[in-house]
Amino acid sequence: MSNPHTTFSATVLGLPRIGPNRELKRATESYWAGRLDAEGLHAVAADLRTTQLTAARDAGLDSVPVGTFSYYDQVLDTAVLLGALPERVSGIADELDRYFAAARGNAEVAPLEMTKWFDTNYHYLVPELAADTAFSLHPEKPLAELREALALGVPARPVVIGPITFLKLAKSVDGSDLLERLPDLLPLYAQLLGLLAEAGAQWVQIDEPSLVTDLTEAELAAVRSTYQQLSRVPARPAVLVAAYFGRLGVALPVLAETGIEGIAVDLVAGGDADVAVAQSLTDKLIVAGVVDGHNIWRVDPDHALPQLTGLRDAGVPVAVSSSCSLLHVPYSLAPETDLDERLRNWLAFGEEKIAEIRVLATALAEGEEAVAEALEIARTAVAARLADPRLRVESVRARLAALDADAVRRTPADERRVLQQQRLNLPLLPTTTIGSYPQTSRIRVARAQLRRGEIDQTEYDTRMRAEIAEVIALQEEIGLDVLVHGEPERNDMAQYFAEQLDGFAATINGWVQSYGTRCVRPPIVYGDVVRPRVMTVDWITYAQSLTSRPVKGMLTGPVTILAWSFIRDDQPLSDTARQIALAIRDETVDLETAGIGIIQVDEPALRELLPLRKADQAAYLDWAVEAFRLSTSGVADTTQIHTHLCYSEFGEVIGAIAGLDADVTSIEAARSHMEVLDDLNAAGFGLGVGPGVYDIHSPRVPGTEEIEKSLELALKAVPAERLWVNPDCGLKTRRTDEVIASLRNLVAAAQALR
Ligand code: GLN
Ligand code: ZN
Repeated sequence: MSNPHTTFSATVLGLPRIGPNRELKRATESYWAGRLDAEGLHAVAADLRTTQLTAARDAGLDSVPVGTFSYYDQVLDTAVLLGALPERVSGIADELDRYFAAARGNAEVAPLEMTKWFDTNYHYLVPELAADTAFSLHPEKPLAELREALALGVPARPVVIGPITFLKLAKSVDGSDLLERLPDLLPLYAQLLGLLAEAGAQWVQIDEPSLVTDLTEAELAAVRSTYQQLSRVPARPAVLVAAYFGRLGVALPVLAETGIEGIAVDLVAGGDADVAVAQSLTDKLIVAGVVDGHNIWRVDPDHALPQLTGLRDAGVPVAVSSSCSLLHVPYSLAPETDLDERLRNWLAFGEEKIAEIRVLATALAEGEEAVAEALEIARTAVAARLADPRLRVESVRARLAALDADAVRRTPADERRVLQQQRLNLPLLPTTTIGSYPQTSRIRVARAQLRRGEIDQTEYDTRMRAEIAEVIALQEEIGLDVLVHGEPERNDMAQYFAEQLDGFAATINGWVQSYGTRCVRPPIVYGDVVRPRVMTVDWITYAQSLTSRPVKGMLTGPVTILAWSFIRDDQPLSDTARQIALAIRDETVDLETAGIGIIQVDEPALRELLPLRKADQAAYLDWAVEAFRLSTSGVADTTQIHTHLCYSEFGEVIGAIAGLDADVTSIEAARSHMEVLDDLNAAGFGLGVGPGVYDIHSPRVPGTEEIEKSLELALKAVPAERLWVNPDCGLKTRRTDEVIASLRNLVAAAQALR
């Protein structure tokens, strides 16, 4: 080890940054709006870091990650570090504005694309690289944050994203193999290591989460040579390579052969898969991720301690850590005064996780007696959770067991289509929308007033009904064929259902960064899921009472509700999915009984839960598809089931789309020129399909001719009897005038082609 005298025993892999009360979000948005200057923004950020870093030290972490702070995104920060921002923002002189332009775009430049960070709900910005991207080192941010932390007396460990992960996550704009750019990046990383050592870093953490995905032989060879080379850098800090969100598998022995000093392994998401190899690594510090950084449950000491002592007893130097960055959990349980006291006891958010890590590290170093009380409290809480009757509702389990695995629609889709058409009598190329209409300020005001107790539920419902009436009248006037109620009553498409289901809990302040300044407050599913009463029927039947045209019922699918929640870790995900599916199934049946003939069950997150490794994907898709079919197969053949998926690049999921067996599937297509239809055809898809012909992500109003052209293209791939005409996604984020103009053109285009 280049610095043989330092080691550490308790750490986390990264810290949240949006602020315990979303201070950074507010400051950043004020900066964007011109209400706060750069100095003001930097001051808010510095304050947050100071408080957070000293608190982490005071809570007993003897190595604290620094540099996981970000004004927007850590991958974008890495692109800045390596001089790899796209050419189109280089004209923007101000550094901060250039950074935000790359993140969000401005009037002149398009932003970088955004995509999901592994299997989390965090989204990163995708660097654009090419064979001729000229990399250069810009180490100011990591150096400044390191110096700031050291000045506070914090045992700081700078964190940077590693070269393999950076290249693997980037998009090759010229089709070149980005791994070939590794030789150009390594000297910059080497230089950075030297600078960080000079500034006083004892350790540096290089994040390589890509190592938990399937790697080719060439990629593994690149891992080997990268860390061989970086470990040969003279006068560098000790290097910790951190991989998280899964098992390292074959990458672990490869890393082990190199001269790095430490490896962080995820013993939560990866289970015990890497333990045997890790136990042989007596010359490396194993940073054991035993506290779940991606979920909110209190750690079970009787699970974590044996993992830790197993390593220690094998002669391996061990530090206790979170499994991944705490970016993915809320800051603290302290504000959660509304949570059921028992449930609250089962949870650990960021602050509580740091305390757990300290307790485990002390138990490991000094024996359990040293922290007997804390361990006792933890054990009692874990036992109480597992014994809680809400975790096993026998009626739900019995119903699921009786339904067995094949709750599916038995009549073939082609026959159903005929029966549904007899009932619905729709014109060729029926027009519809995806569900939401613009969330006007009137709606937001009403929601805020209800929350503050300024209006009561009756008044709120009256106002929502007025919104529905307006949206129905508007759709009739525009001439759409299948109407929606507009979703004014929903805050969020997953949360809205979670709030109404038993087995779910909501937090007051449990914000987690989704991207940039956008935060979400995921519901917590803690027990068996029961639908105590109908959830949407009143709204939908009210909408239907206002029109003779069919109104489409609107539900969120089980996989999406699951994907956007903190999930149970005491049973397989598939079991929880089936329980949610049962609740949605009951709702579809109740809607049908109330006379609703078309029901849409949205699954925009179907692809989000896809496991990182190929070997695990088929099993996931099986249960995900099964859960959707369970939710939608309780209705008669004459009831038409729709689904909506938000994207067009289905990738590995493509085969599953047909498996959903929805009578109609609406998808994103406006930006990809209907190519997705060929992909669907190739995958044997023969159901109704509504490729989006209006890109709702843009304020632009598509012209009638343009929509006709899209539809003509679509008709080359799909027979008219199966083609629907609709926008790409919900209209929630658009302005009413844009929506009206666009939908008029959409209806005109469909009519022209009939
Ligand atoms: N029905 C939802 C809406 O229209 C679908 C949203 C989504 O796809 N994310 O808003
Ligand atoms: Zn969508």
